[in-house]
Amino acid sequence: MARAAPDTPPVRPTLGLLGGTFNPVHAGHLSIARAALRTFGLDAVWFIPCSNPPHKPAAGLASNADRLAMIRLAIADEPRFAALPIEFDRPGKSYTIDTVLALRALHPDKDFVFIVGADTLPEIHTWHRPLELLPLIRIVSLARPGHAPTPAELHLPPPWPATLLADLRPGQPLDVSSRDVRAGIAAGRPVPLVPKPVMRYIQEHNLYR
Ligand code: ATP
Repeated sequence: MARAAPDTPPVRPTLGLLGGTFNPVHAGHLSIARAALRTFGLDAVWFIPCSNPPHKPAAGLASNADRLAMIRLAIADEPRFAALPIEFDRPGKSYTIDTVLALRALHPDKDFVFIVGADTLPEIHTWHRPLELLPLIRIVSLARPGHAPTPAELHLPPPWPATLLADLRPGQPLDVSSRDVRAGIAAGRPVPLVPKPVMRYIQEHNLYR
């Protein structure tokens, strides 16, 4: 087998981090993870469920164990996807900057990008220490139906609105949200954009009723 020349720099894998509440995981999450893999040439995507979401009500949040189990079911057939419950081990609010710093320290041989839906871009300015987070990790985004943020809507100083919007890609947008999934289940309506094994888990564990 041919050996790499000694002065060839090693190829650093680039991993996408997809943070969210995943309450529950749905086809929109899988679609942006796949689009990010393709569009940004990632080697893998790690799904990182939030333990204690800073910006969402805790009421109606399924347990950490249930949300993690559902992610694992949803990605079971995707060899390049993994679930990483790193935020479950940290007390207090789950801040992205803490996760990014921890992963950089744990994996100095890897590069990371953070994946979000377009609806999240106007929220980044409200995240913990956004102006320290932004230089630490490239944030790439995929379109979400009904969300086309303008630079002004990002409420961030230059160069961040232009930088972030330059990394917004069309993907294959799916009009689905966890909120709609929960509402559909509570109302007994069909919820088509949830992977079948996840729907089975929801029924078996009587979630979101
Ligand atoms: P909820 O309805 O409970 O607010 P959600 O469906 O937005 O939840 P989250 O787990 O909060 O799901 O989302 C995690 C990440 O996935 C966020 O960056 C969000 O923008 C993105 N995302 C979720 N659904 C979609 C979708 N249908 N299209 C594009 N991005 C999405």
